[in-house]
Amino acid sequence: MRYVSTRGQAPVLNFEQAMLSGLARDGGLYLPETVPGFDAITELDGLPYEEIAFRVIRPFTGDSFSDAELRGAIDRAYGRIEHAAKAPLHQLAPGHHLLELFHGPTLAFKDFAMQLIAQLFQIALKRSGQKITIVGATSGDTGSAAIEAFKGIDNVDVFIMFPHGRVSEVQRRQMTTPDAANVHALALDGHFDDCQARLKDLFNDHDFRDGVGLAGVNSINWARVVAQIVYYFTAAASLGMRPMDFCVPTGNFGDIFAGSIARAMGVPIRRLIVATNQNDILHRALTTGEYRVGEVHPSISPSMDIQVSSNFERALYLAYGGDASAVSQLMAELKQGGFTISQGALQSLREQYLSGRVSEEDTLAMIRTIRDETGQILCPHSAVGVAVARQHVEPGIPMVTLATAHPAKFPDAVERAVGARPELPPHMAGLFDLPERVSRVENDVDALKALILERRTN
Ligand SMILES: *Cc1c(COP(=O)(O)O)cnc(C)c1O
Repeated sequence: MRYVSTRGQAPVLNFEQAMLSGLARDGGLYLPETVPGFDAITELDGLPYEEIAFRVIRPFTGDSFSDAELRGAIDRAYGRIEHAAKAPLHQLAPGHHLLELFHGPTLAFKDFAMQLIAQLFQIALKRSGQKITIVGATSGDTGSAAIEAFKGIDNVDVFIMFPHGRVSEVQRRQMTTPDAANVHALALDGHFDDCQARLKDLFNDHDFRDGVGLAGVNSINWARVVAQIVYYFTAAASLGMRPMDFCVPTGNFGDIFAGSIARAMGVPIRRLIVATNQNDILHRALTTGEYRVGEVHPSISPSMDIQVSSNFERALYLAYGGDASAVSQLMAELKQGGFTISQGALQSLREQYLSGRVSEEDTLAMIRTIRDETGQILCPHSAVGVAVARQHVEPGIPMVTLATAHPAKFPDAVERAVGARPELPPHMAGLFDLPERVSRVENDVDALKALILERRTN
């Protein structure tokens, strides 16, 4: 399997190389040259999650990993998810199902991808003897998933910058309590945008980048998308592989893009619905064809508070028929504030995706409604998804909404909605008693570099 960049100017890579490099050298995102078909799609029901994962992921990894290596990585990764089904499907109302993706160690769907790629990094780095330094910026969920997944992995140090004082206590503790020497939580004096800007500074300093073997595991890493394809297969298998719709709480477009790949592989997905909060650039783009960057308005579903949805570039590339120069042109215009999607590409995107937006009040109201109707407490991101899905449910067609995080990760929003704070699941009960380990760092690239060089264990 060969991977090409959406901007057409970077070397063609294999799976392992695309995984280790994250972003392509031309600034683009890697995609497989062709999407593999899937045989025997109707024979999956009843198989363990790990077996379906192996069958779905295998065609993408090519000769980067042996079957035994891939199976081992999958078993170790998903052994840490505290539910026998891993991604259980749960009926909310007749014809409307919730796909629960929050039973992993950090209580958000990001564990599904991060746990697996940490295992794959481990195998690849052991083989090559290479040592790398992963640096990431997070508004909460990605950083905790990365630290939890990479703690104790050989040949890797992980540094995660989060905005000091601006993540929830559960999110912060998930980053600061793991005690492995190779993971490092950095509280940066600034906003999330400052964290992202300093991250870019590090990657743009090529001496530093090559010196420490800088690598990224943010949501544009193709290997993360691949891991997320699997649960579309498991959900569809348990509903009998008949035509169905999926609604996905969306920020960077990674999770829903994985759904479009599942469909291309043969899963009978009829409509993929993009659910956004008040930061609705994707909903506006699909409605009007204008992709215009505005201000980020902090919301109660913070993991979807984005201005630029990075994985959307992959959907654009496909909608423009693989025209990398057209995509490069759009991305150049994006630097000036936005672009207009061509009529043909917009039509193609609308055949692939529907969209909807939910206000803050309606999100809180939906948490209450679902509590009243079913007793289940949703996290605010999942509530955005359920609210949009309910506008689109059609009789006879199953609707699956992805529940992207556990409510206990966002206790303030849940308390505002229903007047009580959700409890942490039993496997996390000790979180508030563990000692925290965190380095405060100035919003300054030189201070950051010095800290990384001093703390690195590899
Ligand atoms: C990351 C995240 C999202 C958004 O997912 P994308 O793949 O970025 O679209 C939604 N909900 C939660 C809880 C998340 O952590």
